[in-house]
Amino acid sequence: LRVGNRKTRAVYDPLMFEQWEEEMHSEMNLGKGLDMDEFRLFYQPQVESLTHKVTGVEALIRWQHPEKGLLFPAAFINIAETTGLIIQIGEWVVSQACQQLKSWEQMGMGALTISVNISPRHFLHADFPTFLDECMRNYEVDPKKLIIEITENVAIVDSDLVETQIKKVQEMGFPISIDDFGTGYSAFLYLQRFSIQEVKVDRQFVANLETDPKSRAIVRAILTLAKSLHMHTVAEGVETEGQLKRLEELGCFEIQGYYFSRPLPIEELNSQLLASPGF
Ligand code: C2E
Ligand code: CA
Ligand code: CA
Ligand code: CA
Repeated sequence: LRVGNRKTRAVYDPLMFEQWEEEMHSEMNLGKGLDMDEFRLFYQPQVESLTHKVTGVEALIRWQHPEKGLLFPAAFINIAETTGLIIQIGEWVVSQACQQLKSWEQMGMGALTISVNISPRHFLHADFPTFLDECMRNYEVDPKKLIIEITENVAIVDSDLVETQIKKVQEMGFPISIDDFGTGYSAFLYLQRFSIQEVKVDRQFVANLETDPKSRAIVRAILTLAKSLHMHTVAEGVETEGQLKRLEELGCFEIQGYYFSRPLPIEELNSQLLASPGF
């Protein structure tokens, strides 16, 4: 920051100070929230194109805050990233997901997969592969059932440590999925360096599928690329029948979005799955 520019002066703005105070405060509460077991996973179904059978879910974190109510990731993930608490959160998410996979297996729904969101920063953490390995053994889950979603990030692709770690995790059998594909900086580098199992077509491209020929061309290109690299594809943020039809015509493998279901608490998801296995 250069002295005298607007940003530097803004530090003395009482409103900014209040915001800063609020952030510091929530940082402390975030740790407490973890200790007090206030986090929950909601699960959004992913369905197979054409058959519309549920094949798995994406786990999305929520914070059941004692005063503020149910908080969405937008309210706390950035703070978790900057304070480093994202590592603890990631470990909590993975163990919850493994526990859930185990419980589905006992309920006769062992074919379902869970996709978890893991911060690219977590791959800089040397213990991550070991942690995954222990979790998998503890809960006796098949690593193929736990799909690891990462977003594209230049710094991460450039790091040798991260490259080794991603490969280790893949060798252990966990599939890697590139989240928000096409919106980051290094999508092609990821595809070149690693054998990626899945890409997720970002909501921004899906949203304009019906009206915008450019979005359609982009989605078609992503799906063609995925096919030639033998990658699985999931479209996210699918809200309308029109979007669904287009994606099916273009050959997308799986669909996720409000059109089929919002993210649900586990009890609700289970009762839906038990009532009609295909949803
Ligand atoms: P994401 O991974 O791209 O997750 C998809 C987001 O889109 C979710 O928001 C989901 O609720 C929302 N969504 C699903 N279907 C639709 C739809 O049809 N239309 C629209 N408009 N939105 C839809 P959510 O749960 O608020 O999560 C936001 C972001 O927070 C996620 O984006 C992900 O990047 C991050 N996140 C969520 N859970 C975790 C977590 O456990 N760990 C980490 N590190 N990040 C997480
Ligand atoms: Ca799947
Ligand atoms: Ca995701
Ligand atoms: Ca996404």
